[in-house]
Amino acid sequence: MINIEALTKSYNGQQILKQVNLNIKEGEKVVIIGPSGSGKSTMLRCMAGLEPIDSGKILFEGKDIFASRQNRSEIGMVFQSFDLFTHLSALENIMLAPKIVRKEEEKVVRERALKLLDRVQLTERMNHYPEQLSGGQQQRIAIARALAMNPKLMLFDEPTSALDPEMTGEVLDVIVDVVRDGMTVVIVTHEMEFARRVGDRIIFMDNGVVVEDVPTSKIGEMKRNPRLEQFLAQIS
Ligand code: ATP
Ligand code: MG
Repeated sequence: MINIEALTKSYNGQQILKQVNLNIKEGEKVVIIGPSGSGKSTMLRCMAGLEPIDSGKILFEGKDIFASRQNRSEIGMVFQSFDLFTHLSALENIMLAPKIVRKEEEKVVRERALKLLDRVQLTERMNHYPEQLSGGQQQRIAIARALAMNPKLMLFDEPTSALDPEMTGEVLDVIVDVVRDGMTVVIVTHEMEFARRVGDRIIFMDNGVVVEDVPTSKIGEMKRNPRLEQFLAQIS
């Protein structure tokens, strides 16, 4: 579904991603872990077509991710900081992109948005503005907003790390529901228990390269890497 070949990306002359190769198949659940600054968010933003790249290729269903907006709009992304539109209600946040980007009919978009609100259990909050919602509720709306575009691939960048612990569970439950639905997902997370529960594959990034890429069931073997062991000891 997504093929990354020799992806290199720099900021201010400094290479952040160094010749990264990664292939993700349809339906796969990939978890990315790694120390702060290793390039995880940069990688996800590149995959979503949100960042220009220096060299290499990112193909989504065989097509260059930068070739068309239509292509990119099939990739949904959820950020650490929710990033809802503050001047729009929960319902309006969910409806915006299908209306503006896809020019879909209002009635169709509204119906889908209402179903998504039900799915994230926020129907009674649909007219609330982001500032009237808890962090966990905002993040559930952000997930619903991404799903409203009927994406084929969902990218989650540390979706619970800005949340109080008591709100983490409600957001992870929604992500588990998305995963169970058969969606192809890539999740950057430090929640190792969650990673083991939902991931087919775990990727360890360090200093702009993919250091390990193993099936979740083999995470024990992955631990032999000293950098990874050090990282896992820090987060647990
Ligand atoms: P974290 O776990 O803290 O979220 P990360 O693995 O997601 O870290 P990135 O956010 O991808 O790391 O950042 C990788 C490196 O790129 C860091 O050194 C960061 O300072 C730098 N960087 C990221 N975004 C930018 C930007 N827009 N401009 C300049 N430098 C950037
Ligand atoms: Mg990050």
